[in-house]
Amino acid sequence: MGPTVQNAFFDNYTPVSDIAMMALCFVMYALVLTSYVTRTRSYRIFMVVLGSLVLAGMTNVSYNMLLKTGDVAYAGAVYAGRITYHAILYFVFVMFSVYIGEVTGLDKPRKRAILLTAAILAGVMTALEITFALTGHGFRFTKAGVTARGINLFMIGYLLFIIMQAVLLVRVRHLLYKRVMNGFFASVGISLVIMILQQIFKQSSFTTVTFLFPVVAMFYLMHSNPFNAATGTVDSRAMQEMVRYMHTHRKSFVFLSLYLPEFEAEGKKLPDEIQATVRRFATGFFRGAVLFQVRNGHLILMVPKTRNPDYEHRIQNILSAFRKQYAHFRYSYKIVIGESMEEISEKNEYVSLIRNIHRDIPDDSVHRVSPDDIRRFNRSEYILQELTDIYTKKNLNDPRVRAYCQPVFNIQTGRFDTAEALMRLELEETGLVYPDQFIPMAEAHGYIHVLTEIILHKTCQEIRKMSEEGFDISRISVNVSVLELKEDDFCGDITRVIDNNHINGERIAIELTESRSEADFMVMKEKIEELRGRGIKFYLDDFGTGYSNMERIMELPFDIIKFDRSLVIASGADERSEKIVENLANMFKDMDYSVLYEGVEDDKDEKRCREMAASYLQGYKYSRPAPIEKLRNFLPKAG
Ligand code: C2E
Ligand code: CA
Ligand code: CA
Repeated sequence: MGPTVQNAFFDNYTPVSDIAMMALCFVMYALVLTSYVTRTRSYRIFMVVLGSLVLAGMTNVSYNMLLKTGDVAYAGAVYAGRITYHAILYFVFVMFSVYIGEVTGLDKPRKRAILLTAAILAGVMTALEITFALTGHGFRFTKAGVTARGINLFMIGYLLFIIMQAVLLVRVRHLLYKRVMNGFFASVGISLVIMILQQIFKQSSFTTVTFLFPVVAMFYLMHSNPFNAATGTVDSRAMQEMVRYMHTHRKSFVFLSLYLPEFEAEGKKLPDEIQATVRRFATGFFRGAVLFQVRNGHLILMVPKTRNPDYEHRIQNILSAFRKQYAHFRYSYKIVIGESMEEISEKNEYVSLIRNIHRDIPDDSVHRVSPDDIRRFNRSEYILQELTDIYTKKNLNDPRVRAYCQPVFNIQTGRFDTAEALMRLELEETGLVYPDQFIPMAEAHGYIHVLTEIILHKTCQEIRKMSEEGFDISRISVNVSVLELKEDDFCGDITRVIDNNHINGERIAIELTESRSEADFMVMKEKIEELRGRGIKFYLDDFGTGYSNMERIMELPFDIIKFDRSLVIASGADERSEKIVENLANMFKDMDYSVLYEGVEDDKDEKRCREMAASYLQGYKYSRPAPIEKLRNFLPKAG
């Protein structure tokens, strides 16, 4: 094909489109700067593309202006400008490909393969353009301002890239949420249509603009944040909005919550195969359902009832499909299913309700929300409010925190001369609340240390009073959570309370449970050593429940090892278990620890424990925990 004179073609260039395109880039840039966007890699790619397009626009406008002068003196600059312009656009294509790899979360080797393919294509096309320019093929800027062109190399490169992009999208389609994929396809398609149209109308002004459509798609994805392209989920904020909407429009819904505790941790990602399943489950079973990802391992599907009148049937379907999947993956799960309820919608508290239920149900179970759950939830919300208030007021005499106490029998002296302080809450609406209903909550919200200070204060106060009344009390132990040891001034807080009550540190013991973490162990060791210097004794609580690292226990200067009730029970079950418990107890005794058996309920328990190297006994046999004042009934009078 010989070169044809095509002045008309190039005359059809007007800079208006490029300028408008650049303006749009600036608008998007301004919007990104003034709104909240997570700084992911996709975001950085987007910014690079935006910058490149502005650069491309400027190059295009510049070289076309030189071209318009018709002055051959500018020929070199025109060639360079044109090649640069095309090279930038190829680069943008490369970035698009990289972006697709990024949003679909492909692994490193596959991302690298995509980058390599795109980069080679861009490199080859650019090299060809340079060669053509040097050898006088393709586009030419001839004397007297006559431009001519042969093969439209750029158009070939453009088409190749469009094909590559389409192939890539098809190959990753199983990794993308369908609606997101369709969006990408539409943007690539529209670009292609415009490119073809401008060829038909012998135009060249709209080339750069066609690159803007995928950019708009990227922009949308970034801002429909936290819309997750891989799972098609939206976050808890969006869920709250949906609940509000459904509530004000009196629309009822069903919710299905799936919790995968293994993926709960920050930064953990659901594996690809789970994401694929999630995508299928989100759309496959209900009409008009929306899936929310409220945390890493927690998904909630909201299903409008009106569009799914047969929802019960559909729930059965999704559950049996889930069970089939579970047979595959075997990740532990908790499923909670319920219907919209006026009082929960009003407070917009579905997520808290579900998480509250999680605490009470076992792993790998499906639970239907019952009125009882709601009652329990309201109760624990109320308790939490009160805890928050107690924490904020930080009044060491807060009457809502009650010190209960259980006497401990000392075998050596044959008397009850120590005791354990146990906390209760006494609240207006609920009456007495037991530790299992508020300690985990207090720990989770960081309130536990203030509670400890209160209980310690009340215990010290009572020790002082009883001593003044002539009762003989060696010490009372107080439970401390391992979490508290990390408080800024843990030791200072403890000694301050003791000192302010004018009692000796030896009157107080602290009960700690083992922790698995190495860091906790180091902190524990440090704090125990510091407080022992003040005479405070230390007990290892709950020995025998779950995990026990002997080596570490021996490294910590405990005074008393509290054998958990489970060991008392086990020792009563068969002779072999009794032997094991006895040997453990003897081993501790030989190493100068005292052994305390917890949960001694009857004479048989007591007899066994006495035979198994016991120094102290504690349990319902002697007394249930009672208000600390009642301790007087057990204590001997001095002298
Ligand atoms: P724990 O420290 O192991 O306390 C012993 C628990 O066993 C107490 O339950 C007590 O009432 C119960 N118990 C005592 N004798 C017997 C018995 O003969 N048989 C049976 N089956 N149980 C018996 P409680 O008071 O409900 O406390 C439960 C847990 O709550 C405590 O376990 C402790 O871990 C925690 N806790 C209680 N008070 C406090 C506190 O002030 N601070 C902290 N951090 N935790 C506390
Ligand atoms: Ca204890
Ligand atoms: Ca215990």
